[in-house]
Amino acid sequence: MTLVACIGGGQLGRMLGLAGLPLGLSFRFLDPSPDACAREVGELVVAPYDDRDALDRLAVGAAVVTYEFENVPVEAAAGVGAVPGPRALEHGQDRLSEKELFRSLGIPTARFGRLEETGLPALVKTRRLGYDGKGQRRVDRDEPLEDGELAEELVAFDRELSIVGVRARDGETRFWPVGENVHREGILRVTRAPARDAPQVEAERICTRLLDALGYVGVIAVELFEAGGRLLANEFAPRVHNTAHWTIDGAETSQFENHLRAILGLPLGSTALRAPSVMVNVIGGIPPVEELLELPRAHLHLYGKAPRPGRKIGHVTLVDPDEETVARAVALASEEGGRG
Ligand code: AMP
Repeated sequence: MTLVACIGGGQLGRMLGLAGLPLGLSFRFLDPSPDACAREVGELVVAPYDDRDALDRLAVGAAVVTYEFENVPVEAAAGVGAVPGPRALEHGQDRLSEKELFRSLGIPTARFGRLEETGLPALVKTRRLGYDGKGQRRVDRDEPLEDGELAEELVAFDRELSIVGVRARDGETRFWPVGENVHREGILRVTRAPARDAPQVEAERICTRLLDALGYVGVIAVELFEAGGRLLANEFAPRVHNTAHWTIDGAETSQFENHLRAILGLPLGSTALRAPSVMVNVIGGIPPVEELLELPRAHLHLYGKAPRPGRKIGHVTLVDPDEETVARAVALASEEGGRG
């Protein structure tokens, strides 16, 4: 049986496993937590991500090693030949190097650098290990930046979009329809796909440039701001992404399956839309399952994670829903709708 090894055993690893089992694959995950939720779909090696012995145990007998989060130590990933390769991780882990890469590829971004370069108001972000809006603050007056901080122009965007694509070993690329994303308190709440009047061609152009420059293999996500009809790249994630979870139920081939196909050198599956979809994240508490399942064409995905405030513990995809159904799902899936 073909074994896939994955650094990280969270929900993304779990959904890779769920997509890969029907393809005849088996899975092994590395995670520091014995409760990592991917343990239900494969073997779990419990150790820190930079533990050389554990990385060797993870990789032994595997056809390919991949990862499910971008803060994997680069040497650890490179040491086991992980796919996507180390260049994507290096750029993806440092917001400055990520923005400079965008700029070198002619991909527009918000102004970035020092406050003199961004103007005010600005957002100051930590260069490393920031995610879900953590490690960022708004700055309205000139002040010194700390080491390891980067300022960005505060963009008055009209909406947030993302393009998720996949590149095969032979360089073929495919893209899912652009999604429109709503964040609250820095956490993704809702993705609608396709986005209304989606700038699909421009978004694909941006993503293709990045994929080709990195010689990338696997699924990638680029988060974009749309402002006054222009697209600005905010960041990319060298992995499967929350804004494409809807593809499990709404696309011909999910991002998880296509990531596996790409890294294993198998033919890519169609990324065509099956039906317009809305994904709602379940955050904090266990949701009222029966009420969610009562919603028309609703598909619930719980991750087997213990509830905790602000924690993503599942998502629900609504296929071709009306606005009333979306509002109902949002209410049921929020912390207030959940039951602790
Ligand atoms: P990030 O940590 O870069 O993913 O940012 C988290 C969220 O903060 C984004 O999804 C946006 O909602 C917001 N944000 C990030 N950068 C900017 C910016 N330069 N201007 C305005 N909003 C931003």
